[in-house]
Amino acid sequence: MTDQNEAVLLDALDKFLIAEVDPFVHDLEARDEYPHDIVEKMKEMGLFGCIIAEEYGGLGMTTATYARIVARITRSWMSLSGIINSHLIMSSAVQRHGTEAQKQRYLPRFATGELRGGVGLSEPDCGTDLQSIRTVAVRDGDDYVVNGTKTWITNSKYGNVLALLVKTDPTTTPAHKGMSLFIAEKREGFTVARKLEKLGYRGIDTCELLFENYRVSADCLIGGVEGRGLQQILSGLELGRINVAARGVGVAQAALDLAVAYAQQRKTFGKAICNHQAIQLKLGEMATRAESGRLLTDAAAAAYDRGDRCDMEAGMAKYAATEAAMENASECMRIHGAYGYSKEYDVERLYRDAPLLVIGEGTNEMQRIIIAKQLVDRNPA
Ligand SMILES: Cc1cc2nc3c(=O)[nH]c(=O)nc-3n(C[C@H](O)[C@H](O)[C@H](O)COP(=O)(O)OP(=O)(O)OC[C@H]3O[C@@H](n4cnc5c(N)ncnc54)[C@H](O)[C@@H]3O)c2cc1C
Repeated sequence: MTDQNEAVLLDALDKFLIAEVDPFVHDLEARDEYPHDIVEKMKEMGLFGCIIAEEYGGLGMTTATYARIVARITRSWMSLSGIINSHLIMSSAVQRHGTEAQKQRYLPRFATGELRGGVGLSEPDCGTDLQSIRTVAVRDGDDYVVNGTKTWITNSKYGNVLALLVKTDPTTTPAHKGMSLFIAEKREGFTVARKLEKLGYRGIDTCELLFENYRVSADCLIGGVEGRGLQQILSGLELGRINVAARGVGVAQAALDLAVAYAQQRKTFGKAICNHQAIQLKLGEMATRAESGRLLTDAAAAAYDRGDRCDMEAGMAKYAATEAAMENASECMRIHGAYGYSKEYDVERLYRDAPLLVIGEGTNEMQRIIIAKQLVDRNPA
């Protein structure tokens, strides 16, 4: 995508967010209501196919452009970006690892949003340690029969398909050699047990799922070979981390924007609070954190687009940008005083949304460990 095309696209997105999203976010979020109308417009804009190749009906964007789109959407409402993000991680797994028949069958329908969903990895007993999953798929003729429980699965109530991680051989060691990834469409045996109540990231559906004798055709085993599921999903983690980093940039920037505006309006002791040095120090730090997160995210996305190894770069971007989101949301609240604590303002939403970012797509503890391991590997003594 050329710089000019990217500018046109970001401009159109900006107009859409200002006119058709911003006025509705507060109420939708307060009611924890899924934004069906907005999602229909996102489908029309092709956002569900952002990074799906043009030959399969997508927009074929670079990761760098995609990251900017995610940051911009998140600046309006983080939940909206979640509706496309895990859907695109699923799409990317099929695009990179699927058979040609799977790509032709699924990617065009993913791109239009006709089939929408996300990734089903986490279970009640494990999130980070995915080799401990217990959901099992047993071959039965041309199908596999799946039994197990997944939890914290985003886009699973209103979506209709998942990239589902299971064990096809629970006895193998190491465990990942017995793990496989399926394209699992919703049908009998795949039920939503309950929608989870969350601190933030509201409006978007995150659920606990039950798989009870759920039959999935062997044609839906991604890549057509068992035992590659963990590797297939982990190889998409950099993309996932770059998109969470971009969300961090969006929240950090939103908090900064609100703080800069409010600090000029609110007066104490005869002057706007932006003229008090204590507030200036906060604004200076917030702006620097948001910009650092953005630059690291741009750099990681550019490395990803070049095909360079970028686990350390994506880890740094995810860590820095999401910690920036946490700190900026908190500082924005302090700058707003009591109004920051009010449900009538957006500040408290940012404060509730930001913590998810330090947990999802590999916790920030894990990011620092990945960064350190890479530092050692890349710099042998
Ligand atoms: C709102 C929301 C949406 C989500 N959406 C999805 C989704 O769509 N699909 C999906 O599959 N999952 C989803 N998740 C789950 C998410 O991916 C997991 O919560 C995350 O991977 C962490 O796993 P856990 O919660 O089991 O924590 P645990 O793995 O139990 O970790 C607990 C703590 O231990 C630390 N820790 C764990 N292992 C190590 C280690 N080796 N070294 C150092 N520290 C360690 C962690 O950093 C963390 O601080 C979602 C979660 C939330 C909250």
